[in-house]
Amino acid sequence: MYCALFGHNYVMSKHVTHHIKEYTCTHCGEQATTNSRGRLEVMTPKLKEINDALASVHEKKIAKSKNKINLQAAS
Ligand SMILES: [Zn+2]
Repeated sequence: MYCALFGHNYVMSKHVTHHIKEYTCTHCGEQATTNSRGRLEVMTPKLKEINDALASVHEKKIAKSKNKINLQAAS
């Protein structure tokens, strides 16, 4: 009801990548995500799937770069 009148109050709930983040409305709990064009879009199971895939790729990248830094520090 509140959201219908005033719009959703989205707060970031998950950092997927540098460009893609998930948001949850503090009033009604509706989820949204930034899509590939950087626009906010209501969360769908398909988008959730894409984000989960992106997040795992992103985490692997971060883990790789961390290993690199550790190796450089060690040598
Ligand atoms: Zn809402």
